[in-house]
Amino acid sequence: MEANIDQGTVSTDVVIVGAGPAGLALGIVLGRAGVPFVLLDKLEQGQNTSRAAVIHAHTLDVLEELGVAARLEALGRKLSKFCIRDRDRSLLDLHFDSLPSRHPHLLMLPQNQTEEVLNARLLEVGGSVHRGWTVGAIADLGDGVLVSATSAHGEQRSFKARYVVGADGMHSMVRKTAGIGFTGHTYEESFLLADVAMDWTHGNDEVKLFFSPAGMVVVAPLPDGTFRIVSTVDNAPELPTVADIQALLDARGPRTGTTTVTKVVWGSRFRLHDRVADTYRRGRFLLVGDAAHVHSPAGGQGMNTGLVDAKVLGEMLAAVISGRQDDAYLDGYEKVRRPAAMQVVGFAGRLTWLATMRNPAKRFVRNMVLSLVNRMPMAKRKLEMALSGLSRSAASKAPVVEPRKPGGPLAALRPTTV
Ligand SMILES: Cc1cc2nc3c(=O)[nH]c(=O)nc-3n(C[C@H](O)[C@H](O)[C@H](O)COP(=O)(O)OP(=O)(O)OC[C@H]3O[C@@H](n4cnc5c(N)ncnc54)[C@H](O)[C@@H]3O)c2cc1C
Repeated sequence: MEANIDQGTVSTDVVIVGAGPAGLALGIVLGRAGVPFVLLDKLEQGQNTSRAAVIHAHTLDVLEELGVAARLEALGRKLSKFCIRDRDRSLLDLHFDSLPSRHPHLLMLPQNQTEEVLNARLLEVGGSVHRGWTVGAIADLGDGVLVSATSAHGEQRSFKARYVVGADGMHSMVRKTAGIGFTGHTYEESFLLADVAMDWTHGNDEVKLFFSPAGMVVVAPLPDGTFRIVSTVDNAPELPTVADIQALLDARGPRTGTTTVTKVVWGSRFRLHDRVADTYRRGRFLLVGDAAHVHSPAGGQGMNTGLVDAKVLGEMLAAVISGRQDDAYLDGYEKVRRPAAMQVVGFAGRLTWLATMRNPAKRFVRNMVLSLVNRMPMAKRKLEMALSGLSRSAASKAPVVEPRKPGGPLAALRPTTV
């Protein structure tokens, strides 16, 4: 199944561009189905930074089918609560332990560790990542694609495949080459992220989102005892210091108890965009993960949505390449997954809007509404289902279509008896 790429032109069924979480998951699904593929990434080593740190209940249900959920759970920290506070005042508590899932929790795990688990599973199913290969051009041949890549040492390779999948992140060259628009907008604020060590007397078994007149801040415990801090700031520093994070928590976090930051383990900032690809498929070009959708990290949905895209697309490609379905079956991919991305963009956007509200009158109303929702079990359950991804579980299955009849499309019309 693994193609030898030591020659000039390599033939395979699928080229996956990008070995982030979405590309790795897609490789696992194709590997398990015995579909020949080549997975290329321009980085010589996987990224070793924390980035997306939460895996939701529904994603874990899906990842169980790929054989990785138990391994992720063994490494991560399981949390059962997500609490919204205005400084010290409790507004809304969401609980995950009674959700209709085999994994009823939020799993905190830095993205580099998630990628390591996915990579190990990829090797087990007979695949691997060809690292240090940058895809520079893709030609559409009509009945396939010709993908051209250059290694870090200047070697050239061409890959002839039936399909190319862009798992190459937000700035996807696959999406751009296919001429697919990425419609949406960019937020004015920037997001600051940091993993910090701190003395914190406010518990380490839940994610806390604090609202305050100065803005929002999220504090989430990580498996190694450090905490993930996420905040919106007008001009986030490129590398936040202990003093930056301390000032944020002093201005926005709890007033009571102890909050003393002692070390910044990792920090970053990024600008937010809400964008969804205009289509997920153009001919032989398909998109998954951040190449297809990006949005606010509020609610931690980005990587989760990409992992589910990969599972659905992998199953659909396997059905087409094995001959069980016609090529047209792949048109159903975006019908299933694009609405799910639109829902996530809307949900994360509303959460960001609520969290970044500055007007005192609006903040007052927001807090009243959230406190009211906290007393309404049905409304709370709806939010828990949306946050955990379980409300979108129908969109995590490849569409069910009558298998292709042997003998081509007309065979189905032929009488069975003469
Ligand atoms: C600083 C930061 C913090 C984040 N924090 C959060 C968070 O808290 N919560 C959350 O949900 N999400 C967060 N995200 C987003 C999350 O990391 C992404 O949603 C996730 O990584 C998307 O996975 P992906 O596989 O689609 O793409 P990516 O992880 O972006 O992977 C794309 C891969 O494609 C490769 N590639 C690109 N172009 C080419 C090419 N031409 N040829 C070969 N290879 C190519 C890249 O090297 C890369 O490895 C964060 C992102 C960043 C940058």
